[in-house]
Amino acid sequence: MSDIVYLNGDFLPIEKAYIPVLDRGFIFGDGIYEVIPAYSKHPFRLAEHLRRLQNSLDKVQITNPHSDAEWGRLTGEILERNPGNDQSVYLQVTRGVAKRDHAFPKGIKPTVFMMSTPLVTPAPALVESGVACITAQDYRWLNCDIKSTSLLGNCMLRQRSAEAGAAETILFRDGQLTEASSSNVFIVRDGVVLAPPKDHLVLPGITYDVVIEIARAREFEIEIRPVSEAEVRSADEIWVTSSTKEVLAVTTLDGQPVGDGKPGLLFQRMHALYQAFKQDRMRTAA
Ligand code: PMP
Repeated sequence: MSDIVYLNGDFLPIEKAYIPVLDRGFIFGDGIYEVIPAYSKHPFRLAEHLRRLQNSLDKVQITNPHSDAEWGRLTGEILERNPGNDQSVYLQVTRGVAKRDHAFPKGIKPTVFMMSTPLVTPAPALVESGVACITAQDYRWLNCDIKSTSLLGNCMLRQRSAEAGAAETILFRDGQLTEASSSNVFIVRDGVVLAPPKDHLVLPGITYDVVIEIARAREFEIEIRPVSEAEVRSADEIWVTSSTKEVLAVTTLDGQPVGDGKPGLLFQRMHALYQAFKQDRMRTAA
């Protein structure tokens, strides 16, 4: 059975879905996207993903083609039409099709594309072992809060860790931690969880917010403040978070062990709480 995708009003098999070559998403990477994890066919934190979608669209002046209720219906339908209970829903809105010109054309219709793939979260062995990461200078643009489909910088930075056999590339700008190529980053020092604030240098991660919410509810000591490269390099624990990675421990950084080289105690606690939080939300949604 082939994957069923949604394109501009129609559900169709993926191999039948085409866009015109002049779509600005293709020509300029002029589009916004979201990745929404779904457990037991229920989208997780849908309202928060749709709010971030709206914020990104507003920042690049693309009119949101759908209301939240419509996005909710389309998300439900793509989940129903594709196999598997746990899925990762990808949605993308580009500015639309127009003669190639950098300035935004007037009066064109955004292109809407959605697909869903099986959600692959880290295997238990990986949660237990943790992952290797490398570091790099964050040379991306200064609008990293926009979830843009222009991801060449992120792809190039991720490629470095792929070539090094590592799971992620953790990024520093001007001596400060920003995020990783496709995740947010937390560290632990002396029992305190630290993470950089949400600003134009990082993507406001939905998982980042969940982790902070859990940490506060469960009385972890947590501080949201700028985190220096030196603090990361001498951290007791490092975690990466994203909708598909959930919370994952980093056990080596640039080949050096993080802490004692094993996932830390606070990670283990947070990972268990995250799983419970997720299951609890899904029960309420069911
Ligand atoms: N930062 C970047 C650059 C990302 O691409 C992602 C996710 N794709 C994240 C952070 C994590 O965001 P979320 O928790 O919403 O998946």
